[in-house]
Amino acid sequence: MKAFTPLQGGCQCGAVRYEVRAPTTDIYHCHCSMCRRIHGAAFATFGIAPIESVVYIKGEDNLTRFDSSDGVSRSFCKTCGCQLTIDVAEVPQSRWFTPATLDDGVHPGAAENERHIFVGSKLHWLHLDNVLPQSDEA
Ligand SMILES: [Zn+2]
Ligand SMILES: [Zn+2]
Repeated sequence: MKAFTPLQGGCQCGAVRYEVRAPTTDIYHCHCSMCRRIHGAAFATFGIAPIESVVYIKGEDNLTRFDSSDGVSRSFCKTCGCQLTIDVAEVPQSRWFTPATLDDGVHPGAAENERHIFVGSKLHWLHLDNVLPQSDEA
Protein backbone atom coordinates (compact mmCIF):
# COMPACT_ATOMS: atom_id res chain seq x y z
CA MET A 1 0.00 0.00 0.00
CA LYS A 2 1.22 3.47 -0.88
CA ALA A 3 2.17 5.53 2.18
CA PHE A 4 -0.13 8.45 2.85
CA THR A 5 1.54 11.83 2.59
CA PRO A 6 0.24 14.05 5.42
CA LEU A 7 -1.70 17.17 4.45
CA GLN A 8 -1.07 20.47 6.21
CA GLY A 9 -3.24 23.50 6.66
CA GLY A 10 -3.93 26.40 8.93
CA CYS A 11 -6.00 29.44 9.73
CA GLN A 12 -5.87 32.70 7.80
CA CYS A 13 -3.53 34.56 10.20
CA GLY A 14 -1.10 31.64 10.57
CA ALA A 15 -1.38 31.30 14.36
CA VAL A 16 -2.85 27.78 14.21
CA ARG A 17 -1.55 24.97 12.01
CA TYR A 18 -2.74 21.38 11.69
CA GLU A 19 -1.87 18.18 9.92
CA VAL A 20 -4.05 15.37 8.56
CA ARG A 21 -2.12 12.12 8.85
CA ALA A 22 -4.60 9.63 7.34
CA PRO A 23 -6.84 9.63 4.27
CA THR A 24 -10.19 11.36 4.60
CA THR A 25 -13.17 9.01 4.60
CA ASP A 26 -15.76 11.56 3.47
CA ILE A 27 -16.14 15.11 2.23
CA TYR A 28 -19.33 16.97 3.12
CA HIS A 29 -20.57 20.24 1.73
CA CYS A 30 -22.96 21.24 4.52
CA HIS A 31 -25.87 23.57 3.82
CA CYS A 32 -27.30 23.72 7.37
CA SER A 33 -28.04 27.18 8.76
CA MET A 34 -25.47 26.79 11.56
CA CYS A 35 -22.61 26.16 9.13
CA ARG A 36 -23.79 28.97 6.85
CA ARG A 37 -23.88 31.54 9.64
CA ILE A 38 -20.67 30.41 11.32
CA HIS A 39 -18.73 30.54 8.05
CA GLY A 40 -20.59 33.50 6.58
CA ALA A 41 -20.75 31.47 3.41
CA ALA A 42 -23.35 29.74 1.24
CA PHE A 43 -22.20 26.35 2.56
CA ALA A 44 -19.28 24.86 4.50
CA THR A 45 -16.98 22.07 3.37
CA PHE A 46 -15.61 19.44 5.73
CA GLY A 47 -13.23 16.54 5.38
CA ILE A 48 -13.77 13.64 7.78
CA ALA A 49 -10.79 11.70 9.11
CA PRO A 50 -9.96 9.49 12.12
CA ILE A 51 -9.74 11.76 15.18
CA GLU A 52 -6.20 10.75 16.08
CA SER A 53 -5.03 11.66 12.56
CA VAL A 54 -6.16 15.30 12.62
CA VAL A 55 -3.51 16.89 14.83
CA TYR A 56 -2.73 20.48 15.74
CA ILE A 57 0.96 21.16 15.17
CA LYS A 58 1.06 24.87 16.09
CA GLY A 59 -1.05 27.28 18.15
CA GLU A 60 -3.55 24.87 19.73
CA ASP A 61 -3.65 27.24 22.72
CA ASN A 62 -4.87 29.95 20.33
CA LEU A 63 -8.09 28.03 19.65
CA THR A 64 -11.46 28.79 21.13
CA ARG A 65 -14.47 26.47 21.03
CA PHE A 66 -18.13 27.04 20.32
CA ASP A 67 -20.85 24.39 20.63
CA SER A 68 -23.30 25.19 17.83
CA SER A 69 -25.61 22.49 19.16
CA ASP A 70 -25.44 19.77 21.79
CA GLY A 71 -22.39 17.61 21.10
CA VAL A 72 -21.13 19.65 18.14
CA SER A 73 -17.97 21.44 19.29
CA ARG A 74 -16.33 23.76 16.76
CA SER A 75 -12.77 25.07 17.13
CA PHE A 76 -11.75 28.50 15.84
CA CYS A 77 -8.59 30.57 15.80
CA LYS A 78 -9.01 33.22 18.52
CA THR A 79 -7.18 35.78 16.39
CA CYS A 80 -8.72 35.51 12.92
CA GLY A 81 -11.93 33.55 13.63
CA CYS A 82 -11.18 30.78 11.13
CA GLN A 83 -12.97 27.51 11.91
CA LEU A 84 -10.60 24.56 11.62
CA THR A 85 -12.21 21.48 13.16
CA ILE A 86 -15.44 20.08 14.59
CA ASP A 87 -15.73 17.27 17.10
CA VAL A 88 -19.13 15.57 16.97
CA ALA A 89 -20.03 13.63 20.14
CA GLU A 90 -22.09 11.10 18.15
CA VAL A 91 -19.05 10.09 16.08
CA PRO A 92 -16.14 10.26 18.57
CA GLN A 93 -13.87 8.23 16.27
CA SER A 94 -13.81 11.05 13.69
CA ARG A 95 -12.77 14.69 13.48
CA TRP A 96 -14.16 17.03 10.87
CA PHE A 97 -11.72 19.57 9.42
CA THR A 98 -12.09 22.37 6.90
CA PRO A 99 -10.20 21.30 3.76
CA ALA A 100 -10.50 24.78 2.26
CA THR A 101 -7.81 25.69 4.83
CA LEU A 102 -5.33 23.13 3.47
CA ASP A 103 -2.20 24.67 1.97
CA ASP A 104 -2.05 25.45 -1.75
CA GLY A 105 -5.66 24.42 -2.42
CA VAL A 106 -4.80 20.73 -2.20
CA HIS A 107 -7.75 18.34 -2.53
CA PRO A 108 -8.18 16.15 0.57
CA GLY A 109 -9.11 13.02 -1.40
CA ALA A 110 -12.08 10.68 -0.75
CA ALA A 111 -13.74 11.94 -3.93
CA GLU A 112 -16.04 8.92 -4.12
CA ASN A 113 -17.56 9.89 -0.75
CA GLU A 114 -18.05 13.58 -1.49
CA ARG A 115 -21.58 14.92 -1.20
CA HIS A 116 -23.87 17.82 -0.32
CA ILE A 117 -25.65 17.39 3.04
CA PHE A 118 -28.63 19.12 4.66
CA VAL A 119 -29.70 20.39 1.25
CA GLY A 120 -33.19 20.97 2.71
CA SER A 121 -31.62 24.06 4.32
CA LYS A 122 -29.85 25.17 1.14
CA LEU A 123 -30.13 28.85 0.19
CA HIS A 124 -32.76 29.08 -2.54
CA TRP A 125 -30.53 31.36 -4.63
CA LEU A 126 -27.64 28.91 -4.63
CA HIS A 127 -27.69 26.62 -7.67
CA LEU A 128 -25.98 23.24 -7.43
CA ASP A 129 -25.17 21.03 -10.35
CA ASN A 130 -25.91 17.30 -10.21
CA VAL A 131 -22.33 16.06 -10.18
CA LEU A 132 -22.31 15.16 -6.46
CA PRO A 133 -24.95 13.26 -4.48
CA GLN A 134 -27.26 15.38 -2.29
CA SER A 135 -29.05 14.40 0.90
CA ASP A 136 -31.32 16.07 3.44
CA GLU A 137 -29.23 14.88 6.37
CA ALA A 138 -25.63 13.95 7.09
ZN1 LIG B 1 -5.81 32.63 12.82
ZN1 LIG C 1 -23.73 22.12 8.89
